[in-house]
Parts: sequence; structure tokens; C-alpha cells
Amino acid sequence: MSMNIDAEVKSFMDGVKQRSPGEPEFIQAVQEVVESLMPFYLEHPEYVKEQILERMTEPDRVFIFRVSWEDDNGVARFNRAWRVQFNNSIGPYKGGLRFHPTVNLSVLKFLGFEQVFKNSLTGLPMGGGKGGANFDPKGKSDREVMRFCQSLMTELSRHIGEDTDVPAGDIGVGAREVGYLFGQYKRVVNEWTPTITGKGLSYGGSLIRAEATGYGTVYFVQNMLEHRGDGMKGKVCTVSGSGNVAIYTIEKLTQLGAKAVTASDSSGFIYDRDGIDAEKLAWIKDLKEVRRGRIKEYAEKFGCEYHEGKRPWSVPCDVAFPSATQNEINGKEAEELVKNGCIAVGEGANMPSDLDAVKIYLKNKIMYGLGKAANAGGVAVSGLEQSQNSLRLSWSREEVDSKLVDIMKNIHAKCVEFGDEGDWVNYVKGANVAGFVKVADAMLAYGVV
Ligand code: NDP
Repeated sequence: MSMNIDAEVKSFMDGVKQRSPGEPEFIQAVQEVVESLMPFYLEHPEYVKEQILERMTEPDRVFIFRVSWEDDNGVARFNRAWRVQFNNSIGPYKGGLRFHPTVNLSVLKFLGFEQVFKNSLTGLPMGGGKGGANFDPKGKSDREVMRFCQSLMTELSRHIGEDTDVPAGDIGVGAREVGYLFGQYKRVVNEWTPTITGKGLSYGGSLIRAEATGYGTVYFVQNMLEHRGDGMKGKVCTVSGSGNVAIYTIEKLTQLGAKAVTASDSSGFIYDRDGIDAEKLAWIKDLKEVRRGRIKEYAEKFGCEYHEGKRPWSVPCDVAFPSATQNEINGKEAEELVKNGCIAVGEGANMPSDLDAVKIYLKNKIMYGLGKAANAGGVAVSGLEQSQNSLRLSWSREEVDSKLVDIMKNIHAKCVEFGDEGDWVNYVKGANVAGFVKVADAMLAYGVV
């Protein structure tokens, strides 16, 4: 970056930091966007004059509320919940709900901010938002989870609606939680409106929604590889996580002839040199979705390595798929990935690479599919779920999957359009500029609102 750009980025970030004390994840997410976007922004005085980027880094509004619920022993419990409505310039707010003890305002603002760009990239009319609670579903009974979801939705239902704000799942909010949340929503408002996505197939869900984030991330990496005349077949891949995104990433990799050799949870990772085939993956699905067990049991069952308390980035691979959580790859781990021959990263998770790791990818010009582009398939199919609900129609698996394939191809093409640097594609710049332009033009059209 030139001195002038550096100075502009610093002065911009000083303002963000002053307005957002104690919000490191949010500041990190804004920093990544601002560093890559600033040259383009300064070349467009129409945006600068209207302070579009400044306004885009401030959420439209945030709700914070207490969720009281009763545990199985009849003891009163409470948690804190948030909904961040970040930007609705191009459509109703849209973004998931996360239930995890680490959830706080900073995490949800970073996720909501990223969601604005991601939803714009999908080409669908969706604004950005995010929400959740510092509630840990782990170790709770189904009934406790139900009472928590019902209590949360009693309050949240006042602030959402099919044309206002449409939540979905995220970490800790899967099929079970979405069922309880939607059940309470329709009871409170006395309407069956598609105000939540990720719904079960018997009550308005879309085929391929469960698979969409993982499948979409693999399709994005496939596009990056094909752009360089390469392909997925035979690639050795490391995957982190063993939740929704990780499971369907591994499934699609296997279908395309690649080999996923790792999976993890917050306790450690397994390394299966033979690859996690369809049969082993079915076992993981049952472990995680039905028995709610730990990934360590995989190593005991299939006789492979288990590394307690570690992340899988020291394992040699062609492509890495971080699919668990934010900041799960640091600079040192990124160096190790590159040193071991990794040529591409496909982020199923949101912001899994910290700023040092991103710098290493860019310096080494590896194919870096950042989360807001690579994992946009999930929200895209949520958008398609809304379309089917509005049309009172259900599309087949093949129809939804082929739309997902097209959407990921289009996102890749937009990244190339804005990020082509001659001998390589800077996907960070491409995704951030392409995502920004659509929202910025809408904001310009509205005037100062
Ligand atoms: P799940 O809750 O289904 O799975 C999360 C996985 O990540 C689990 O294996 C969990 O392990 C692990 N994990 C969670 N937090 C941590 C942590 N702090 N440290 C280490 N491991 C952790 O969530 P999803 O698969 O839905 O989401 C994973 C990522 O993908 C998130 O970043 C999410 O924002 C992103 N994403 C999800 C989309 C979706 O459609 N679901 C869409 C786009 C992005 P454990 O069980 O031990 O907690």
C-alpha cells in the first residue's frame, strides 16, 4: 500500500476503534475490508462525499435482551441475547443466530458486517444481520433447549418478519433449534410466514439447505482451481470442525474425488490418512447430530491418530478448509500450511484466518477463498428457501443444487472481475469491492438516510 492509502486506512480505523472499544473481532473484520477497499474507495469521490463506507461500518440498530428460562431442576436461569440489524439497503436483514458461550456484541457485529458483503455477492436481494446468545446447548436436555429457544423467540419475534429480518442457524443452532424457534415464532405472531430459514423439510425447508455451505465452499474452491487449469480430483484436504459446514464439505470433497483427512471439534482433531469416506462420514453425522458425542471417538472407532487440544494445520495438504470458527488459523499456522505445499484455502467458517494469516496467503499468492465469498452458498440457498416459500413451491434437489453451482460460479467471476492482478487473483480485494459496490450504489440512491 502507498503511504497515502496507509494514512487513509489508519485514520479510518482510528474512528472505528474509537466508536467500538472492546470489540476486537469487529475491528478485525472492518480492517480486512478497509485495507483492500480503500484504493477503490478513494477513486470514487461520489462514495467518499456521502461517507458510504463510514456509514456501512455502523449497524442500523442492535437489540440486546435478557432470556429467562427454567432448567430441568426447576431452577431459573438467564442468558443475554442480541440481534444486530446491520444494513438493509438491498433487502431485508438476513443472517444466522449463534448459540455459544463465546458470543458477545463484538462477535455478532463482525458476523453482521461480513454478512452485508456476503449477501450482496450472492446476487440475491438480502441485507445483512446476525444474532445469537451466550447460551451453550452442549450438555442441555432437548426440553431445556426448547424452553430457551421459546423464551428467546418471544422477545425476538417483535423485531423480525419476512420483509424485515429473516434469521437462520449458525454455530449451535441446527435443525432442532430452528424447529423450536420457528414453532414459537408462528405461535406468537399467529402467522405462517417464512421468517426463518434452515427449516425442516416437512415445514417449508429447502432441499440442499443443510448441505449448501459445505457444498458451496467446495464449489468455490473448484472454481479457483479450474481458473488456474487445475481441479479437485486427487487433492488431499484438511478440514476443521465436525458440524454442519465441515460434514458437507467432506461429503462434497469425497464425491469429487478429493480426500479429506482431518476433522475436529473444540477438544482436538483426528487425522485419518486413508481419508474420511462416505461410510465414516455417516458415522460422524450420527455422532454429532444424534448422539452429540466428541470427535475423539472417531479415532477409537477407526483406529487413526487423535491430537488432543490441537488444530489440524500442521498436517500436509493441498487445500485447507477451516470450517469451525473465527481466528482458528494464525500467522504461524498459515506459514506452516504454505511450507507444507498448501495451494488453496476455502473458508467454510467466517473469518477463520486472522489478519496475519491473510497477509501470509497474499504474500505467497496462494488461492485464498475468503469466507464472505467461499461460504456464501449457505445464505444463498436460504434465499432460495424464501423464494420457494413465497411461490408456495418446492424445487427438487437437482434444481437447487444447480442454482447453487451457478451462484458460486458467479461469485467467483465477480471476485476475478475486481481482483485480477495479472498473474494472480486477489480474492480479498475482489470479494470486498464487488460486495461493496452493490450496497454502496443502493445507499447513494437513497440519499442521506
Ligand atoms: P456447528 O455448530 O454445526 O459446528 C461447529 C463446529 O466447530 C463444531 O465441530 C464445534 O466443535 C467447532 N467449534 C465451534 N466453536 C469452536 C471453537 N471456539 N474452537 C474450536 N472449535 C469450535 O456450526 P456450523 O458448522 O454451522 O458453523 C461453522 C462455521 O461456519 C461458523 O464460523 C459459522 O459462522 C460458519 N458458517 C455457517 C453457515 C451455515 O449455514 N451453518 C453459513 C456460513 C458460515 P464443538 O462441538 O466442540 O463446539
